[in-house]
Amino acid sequence: MKAIRRFTVRTVLPEALSGLEELAGNLRWSWHEPTMQHFASIAPNEWDESGRDPIALLGAVEPSRLDELASDDDFVWRTNALLADLHTYLTEPRWYQGIEGAPASIAYFSPEFGIAAALPQYSGGLGILAGDHLKSASDLGVPIIAVGLFYRSGYFRQAISREGWQQETYPVLDPDGLPLSVVRHPDGRAAMITLALPDERALAARIWQVKVGRVTLLLLDTDVPENDDELRSVTDRLYGGGGEHRLLQELLLGIGGVRAIGVFTQLTGTPEPLVFHTNEGHAGFLGLERISDLIGDGLSFSEALQVVRAGTVFTTHTPVPAGIDRFDASLIERYFDTELLPGVDPEDVLALGAEDYEGGVADTFNMAVMGLRLGQRANGVSQLHGHVSRGMFGALWPGFDEDDVPITSVTNGVHAPTWTDPLLLGLAESKFGAGDLFATDWNSEQISDGELWQVRGAMRQQLVTDARRRVGDAWREQNPGVGDPAWYSSLLDPNILTIGFARRVPTYKRLTLMLHDENRLRALLLHPERPIQIVIAGKSHPADDEGKRLIQRLVEFAAEHDVRERIVFLPNYDIAMAKLLYPGTDVWLNNPLRPLEACGTSGMKAALNGSLNLSILDGWWAEFYDEENGWAIPSADSAGDSAERDKLEADSMYDLIEHQIAPRFYDRGDDGVPHRWVQSIRHTLSTLTPVLSADRMVREYVERLYIPAATAETAITANSNQPARELALWKTRVNAAWPSVQVTHVESGGVDALPQVGDTLHVRAQVALGGLTSDDVAVEVVYGRARDGDQLVETQHAPLEQTGETNGTATFAGSVPLGRAGSFGYNVRVVPRHPLLASAAEMGLIAAAI
Ligand SMILES: *Cc1c(COP(=O)(O)O)cnc(C)c1O
Repeated sequence: MKAIRRFTVRTVLPEALSGLEELAGNLRWSWHEPTMQHFASIAPNEWDESGRDPIALLGAVEPSRLDELASDDDFVWRTNALLADLHTYLTEPRWYQGIEGAPASIAYFSPEFGIAAALPQYSGGLGILAGDHLKSASDLGVPIIAVGLFYRSGYFRQAISREGWQQETYPVLDPDGLPLSVVRHPDGRAAMITLALPDERALAARIWQVKVGRVTLLLLDTDVPENDDELRSVTDRLYGGGGEHRLLQELLLGIGGVRAIGVFTQLTGTPEPLVFHTNEGHAGFLGLERISDLIGDGLSFSEALQVVRAGTVFTTHTPVPAGIDRFDASLIERYFDTELLPGVDPEDVLALGAEDYEGGVADTFNMAVMGLRLGQRANGVSQLHGHVSRGMFGALWPGFDEDDVPITSVTNGVHAPTWTDPLLLGLAESKFGAGDLFATDWNSEQISDGELWQVRGAMRQQLVTDARRRVGDAWREQNPGVGDPAWYSSLLDPNILTIGFARRVPTYKRLTLMLHDENRLRALLLHPERPIQIVIAGKSHPADDEGKRLIQRLVEFAAEHDVRERIVFLPNYDIAMAKLLYPGTDVWLNNPLRPLEACGTSGMKAALNGSLNLSILDGWWAEFYDEENGWAIPSADSAGDSAERDKLEADSMYDLIEHQIAPRFYDRGDDGVPHRWVQSIRHTLSTLTPVLSADRMVREYVERLYIPAATAETAITANSNQPARELALWKTRVNAAWPSVQVTHVESGGVDALPQVGDTLHVRAQVALGGLTSDDVAVEVVYGRARDGDQLVETQHAPLEQTGETNGTATFAGSVPLGRAGSFGYNVRVVPRHPLLASAAEMGLIAAAI
């Protein structure tokens, strides 16, 4: 029988152990090994069975055991010591507190957060990245308030049928059993936010609060009695439906999220955020809610837009147009032609998301385009992805070279305390003391090759044990009452070179590339002296049958008798599996179609544990591969078609494994240790750990984006928003005048018929200003190497100064030193200039000599 209602009865802890509740209630435990070990010591079996979830553990353990611990002085003492350590962590000054004038609060919006297996509110990389961002922000003392949605079923749980077909189930989460609490008014009522909808309806949501160390995460939940059944299900699943369901989720996240922050900051006295960061375009509506607020304060739409742009940071994660959220303009119009955003005209909303540029589609509302128009600062997530994004969105800044497109990049990072295996951490601490992981010198002789190799072996063994357990559990689920096949006990070998491959299964990630030549793969798996084994995992999007077919092909291959002990697909990839998988693999494989992997973070997590990467030079690997930390699979970009490309890249992969990787792995000293391989491990750990860490990433966001955004927002809102009013007026004037701005004549001198290095080129240009003044524009020489078709590359800019003016045409002059030999070309460009613009391309206006 089905329960009509369910709830979780929380344990009442003995007084002496009350500290455990606070320790369990702050997710900092999920990256604090001593706290996790403390919980494990309560009841090791229940700890593992609970999925290492303190709240579930406390619910499962016998009251008699708790009573026993309450009178165990040592246990009580350790509980209180851990609590004191947590309190110090939450209040002591950290990195951010040393920065003069940094904003007192920053909002961070994301549709998913992957923080711990115990809170399954993520589908993949985007969510894990958001979780790691919060954890590092907490460690660094960055005052973030994060906002997301509380999905009643999170993402699906994956099982594989006997036919190898992915099956999805959506276990319902009970918030009472999770580390969440409802945000309440002082009188005990739950705080609510509402959104006006078409047909006089309204969407209500309550606000859950999650403590992630020092960071607060607010999660909006529509499963409340105020909503009818249809609206209750708005937050049912992560990326559940399409179209309208998704739009409702995004309206709630963006608009509801800003409202929730307003309620939360008021109730708790927390400062209101000055900077709003949106992790991917899904939360983009947040800017519209802020605009509506500012209109309420007396600004016009375009004045409010200037303020919002100044304080908004937009991160794009998608290197393919198909990955971007788009809606029918008519649907957007229906939702905004309501009381949803007081003072905001639906036409203005539509214009922000319109694809009104070359190659755009009419009557389409594009969330990424709106994100770029609502945020003065934007970034991609690796250097290569920044470049790809500048190309992909370049049409929004017509006339500008790709390098001028105002989208920078901040390469992703991963949270080291979460993703470094406790065994490796233990080795570091035994040599260098507890505390700073980054202080470990992995090249030091204090750690011998043998010790490092022994820990790597223990991590491999851990993975083998976990894989056998998972495969056994999956078998029993699919074949109730039938005993496991005997060969499961010899699945995988803890001494064999282990390759890992796990990720979501969109086509571009090429899950089955390794099957391209099955005989070749078989020969590698079964090599008499140098065998390999492969552990694979990944979820396909529920609606993606092609992805499910790829999984099926792999599962079928892995079931073949001769190879089944050497290659395995593990169902239900999630954080808990990932934490054992990365450390347990010797080589982490990634073979996307370049450049479709925006960054990729699983290989980073593997590297943090001393695994070596074998990857296409895409995403982060294109930036960090250095010949010693792993291997690069050359991408066959110029192959005739995708089949040929797959073949070339698969062959390179087999060759690398056969001729370089396996020989190095099995080249052992008399002590059984592969010293050359260990050298690569040491190199990987010492060079990559600091740069791949999310601490580096969050510092970059703070220094390069949050502080400039806060400074811009402070400047533009001074004197009751006077600068915002002036900027809006100025932009209107410049936009109107621009069609008449022209470079009418350019002349140069200073070099003779045979220019040489050291000469100086003098440039003089006549510019028609169309009623603007020379203060409104920057006139610049753009120079660089001239390629075929006269295209300038590696360009630099030099300013020209005004030297005279007659009848609205001004003369500008300046010079360029010829610093290097080779082809040289130049042009003169005019762009708008204003102290409150963050880049020359910002307004998408340019005039150049033809
Ligand atoms: C890191 C991680 C991902 C993302 O990996 P990519 O390499 O970025 O695709 C997905 N799922 C889980 C569980 C992860 O830990």
